[in-house]
Amino acid sequence: MSTLDIHGLMLGPVQTNGYIVRTHATAPECVLVDPGEEPQRLLGALAALAVEVKAILVTHCHFDHIGAVAAMARATGAPVWCPEAERIALADINSFTFPGFGPFEGYEADHVLSGGEQLDIAGMRIEVLSTPGHSPGHLTFAVSSAASDAAPADGGAAHSVALFSGDVLFVGSVGRVDLPGGDWGVLESSIATLMSRFAGETRVYPGHMGTTTLGRELATNPFLEQLRERVSSQDRDGAAALDGAGKTHSAPATPAPAVGSSNLR
Ligand SMILES: [Zn+2]
Repeated sequence: MSTLDIHGLMLGPVQTNGYIVRTHATAPECVLVDPGEEPQRLLGALAALAVEVKAILVTHCHFDHIGAVAAMARATGAPVWCPEAERIALADINSFTFPGFGPFEGYEADHVLSGGEQLDIAGMRIEVLSTPGHSPGHLTFAVSSAASDAAPADGGAAHSVALFSGDVLFVGSVGRVDLPGGDWGVLESSIATLMSRFAGETRVYPGHMGTTTLGRELATNPFLEQLRERVSSQDRDGAAALDGAGKTHSAPATPAPAVGSSNLR
């Protein structure tokens, strides 16, 4: 279980999870992950928690995850960290927004990330992982308290790491792969990377719906059937830790979920 203090808010018509994350319940500073919409509600939550935003982190630039970025950056003065490959969608958000949603305000990212970086913000260590497949530049943020000795590297003591993984992995589901830049094999490889880097009890805070753990999804998620088989065969062979990177993928045993056009998950 994470030692961090994490507050999730379901925002906007797509009910995207935005997260306020800090080291503990009275910490004066936080990071804000995926402010998708409803800036006034987010500001109210921040005021109620008496916490200052030190950074706005964006997992990916689908409009339902970034609709309130500009308003929150302006209101808090916090810099915005965004996937490098998707910064154009943040800057020119309305060109990437589905009909019937928005309009939103674009924002030029203050910093860009492509995975492999480590940030130290608000007393937290934030490891940035590249997890494409749902979108081309998608990032996952592995957050732990910098004060703890539980750095996420090598999966050690991963129980105190929280993964903010956007639309990579959900309770019993996965991110859709039929939007531009989506690719099931790439997404499956990204999920495999998370499974190999972090322990099964590592808690996952997705971009939609409830929280879960990597282990629960590896054991039960119907979209991870092939990944499950690879892990169990490697266990039988006594092979090294699972590494999905660079592997070739056959078609999924179960196709990615078919969803309506208004659903960006
Ligand atoms: Zn998305």
